[in-house]
Amino acid sequence: MPKQASRRLFLRRAFATIGLAWPALALAKTAPAKLSKATVHYQTHPKGHKMCGMCRFFVPAEGHANGLMMGGMKANGTMALGHCQKVAGRITPMGYCVLFTPRTHTKP
Ligand code: SF4
Repeated sequence: MPKQASRRLFLRRAFATIGLAWPALALAKTAPAKLSKATVHYQTHPKGHKMCGMCRFFVPAEGHANGLMMGGMKANGTMALGHCQKVAGRITPMGYCVLFTPRTHTKP
C-alpha cells in the first residue's frame, strides 16, 4: 500500500472516531438536570427555621441590580426570587424543600 494512501486511511479513521465520540463528549459536558419542585416537595413557606435563604444551594437574586438591595431584598421590602443549584425554576428565599442543607459558616 502506498504511504500516502495509508496516511489518508489513517486520517479518515481518526476523523470517523472523533465524529462518533463527539455526541458522547458533548453530553458529558452538559450540566446535570435540576429536579422539579414537585419531586423535592418544594413549598413557598419555611419549615420552622429552615428556609431556602439559609440553604447552601440557594442562589440569591443579584444584589444591587434592578433596584434590589443586599441579600436579595427589594426596595419595597419584599424578598426577590432567586435560584437553586438543585431545583428548577425561580425560588423564594422563604421557601423550603426536602433537600434543605444549612449553610456552613467557617471562621476566618
Ligand atoms: S435545595 Fe431546596 S431548600 Fe435548598 S435552596 Fe433549593 S429549593 Fe430551597
